[in-house]
Amino acid sequence: MRNVYLDYSATTPVKEEVVKEMIPYFTEKFGNPSSLYDKGLESKEAIIKAREQVAELINAKPTEIFFTAGGTESDNWVVFGAAEKLKDKGNHIITTKIEHHAMLHSCMELEKQGFDVTYLDINEDGVVDLHQLKSAITDKTILISIMLVNNEIGTIQPIKEAAAIAKEHKILFHTDAVQGLGNVPIDVKDMGIDLMSMSSHKIYGPKGTGALYIRKGVAISNYMYGGAQETRKRAGTENITGIVGFGKAAEIANQNFDEHVEHCSQLRDYLRDRILDEIPDTYVNGTLKHRHPGNLNVTFKYIEGESILLLLNQFGISVSTGSACSSTSLEPSHVLSALGVPVEMIHGTVRFTIGDFTTKEDIDYVVDNLKKIVERLRGISSVNSVKGW
Ligand SMILES: *Cc1c(COP(=O)(O)O)cnc(C)c1O
Repeated sequence: MRNVYLDYSATTPVKEEVVKEMIPYFTEKFGNPSSLYDKGLESKEAIIKAREQVAELINAKPTEIFFTAGGTESDNWVVFGAAEKLKDKGNHIITTKIEHHAMLHSCMELEKQGFDVTYLDINEDGVVDLHQLKSAITDKTILISIMLVNNEIGTIQPIKEAAAIAKEHKILFHTDAVQGLGNVPIDVKDMGIDLMSMSSHKIYGPKGTGALYIRKGVAISNYMYGGAQETRKRAGTENITGIVGFGKAAEIANQNFDEHVEHCSQLRDYLRDRILDEIPDTYVNGTLKHRHPGNLNVTFKYIEGESILLLLNQFGISVSTGSACSSTSLEPSHVLSALGVPVEMIHGTVRFTIGDFTTKEDIDYVVDNLKKIVERLRGISSVNSVKGW
């Protein structure tokens, strides 16, 4: 049976070249980067190189890159680190209703500790309203956090404009760029970003590794206490293999950027056209204009996304409903709710995300099977509705 993976926003396979770069650091180059002999220095140099590779992808200085255990840790660090550092200045944070749970649940935790959090709405395109952002700012606001690219509907947010508003009011500006990295152009200097979360396993690197960009001059409290690693900001012996892999993945993402975007967006548009043309009562959620090149989020009216997912799985096809993180819960997606999609339609929604290894034949295989599956499910659901089920 054919295997087609269309869930690149959940995670990506690690590229061959990346694995090759990592392997020696499991075996002969196993030294602790903090050790002063050659075997330690060898590891230390590998981290220096990876830091440069990640910095280059986003136009930062290597000294502004701090390695973490992934996007979730980076988001947590920002929320709790900013709150701790700036609590005497204020207790108000502004974010959006469509953030990843790593941001939302961190903010909700702060609310329990007495912080006020404003969660901005999105419009029918899936984009935040900058007027609402401006009017939400108070003299107690210490942090504004707006994601660069949404993980469910792929919409790109106006980060440069939002960062300018934050700067005008001297408020720290953070963006969760986990889905944006390698998929949309990022220049932290030009965009005026103070803090930015990144993850390795969404850009063909290994899992359990990420980074936080902290602009020079920006101070937030440490998240991990212990040794002197990461210039004392993030203690703990470095995940050297992960960091080396992340560095290599960042380098490849930088070199292949145009090709990657072209490849994904062409196949995504082909998938969209075939679904909308050949399967009735389907529509795309979120604007098609400013969107992740590989993201397609589709509602199939009258049927359950979960049923589509399970039947596609029987044909070796991997997709997700809502977001991967909520696939074990029946809560309707908070992103689609914020977009104003009615609950019954949310349950009929599937996310397809395309990546570097997707082919046109894969898309044809998916649509051919999808057509049969949807027909079958709709047949069943109309029979059941007649019975009053
Ligand atoms: C995947 C993801 C995260 C979490 O990153 P991990 O490295 O898996 O912890 C955070 N934010 C967004 C937008 C994501 O897509």
